[in-house]
Amino acid sequence: MYLKSLTLRGFKSFASATTLLFEPGITAIVGPNGSGKSNVVDALSWVMGEQGVKSLRGGKMEDVIFAGTAGRAPLGRAEVALTIDNSDGALPIEYTEVTLKRTMFRSGGSEYAINGHPARLLDVQELLSDSGIGREMHVIVGQGQLDAILQATPETRRGFIEEAAGVLKHRKRKERALRKLESTQVNLDRLQDLLAEIR
Ligand code: ATP
Repeated sequence: MYLKSLTLRGFKSFASATTLLFEPGITAIVGPNGSGKSNVVDALSWVMGEQGVKSLRGGKMEDVIFAGTAGRAPLGRAEVALTIDNSDGALPIEYTEVTLKRTMFRSGGSEYAINGHPARLLDVQELLSDSGIGREMHVIVGQGQLDAILQATPETRRGFIEEAAGVLKHRKRKERALRKLESTQVNLDRLQDLLAEIR
């Protein structure tokens, strides 16, 4: 599995449709300050379902939409499409190529599609969840984050490794199951009380 291409249209500084083609192996993006290198990385995490506005360095969700420049009017929507080569079947879907697309409208609302079919955020998250990429995975290390990781306490660092290894998903499932167990126990206690009252 590897990323084949990324197309941005109306996303941050990329007003016109721009496609980046990647080959297997290492890709480096170079350019002057402010030329949009980080915006490309933001587009990657955004199309994979990123929800946090902080991690996208914007104030509001719609800040990802091209806001206009002196010579160009703002746009009404942002679109990012990511094509992943899945010939090794790493993603649990019957296609050798998978294209994820996310669209956001200035009027509100966000749409996802998987190979052209409308999908929910949950579908995108589930598709990516065992692949090592995706929303909560530490595969995208932003500026300054490296220092934070190096200076983290051993516990926090273990958290990063657990996330990257995919343990986090199971920890969250366990927490959800424990919460359900707890509320079931409360219901059971209440039932016992009612039964005691009736007897
Ligand atoms: P550096 O090397 O300094 O980190 P960079 O190449 O990573 O720079 P980015 O941070 O990706 O650059 O791009 C910043 C540019 O993107 C700024 O000029 C900013 O005005 C522009 N930009 C960000 N969001 C939008 C938006 N919604 N509409 C238009 N332009 C935007």
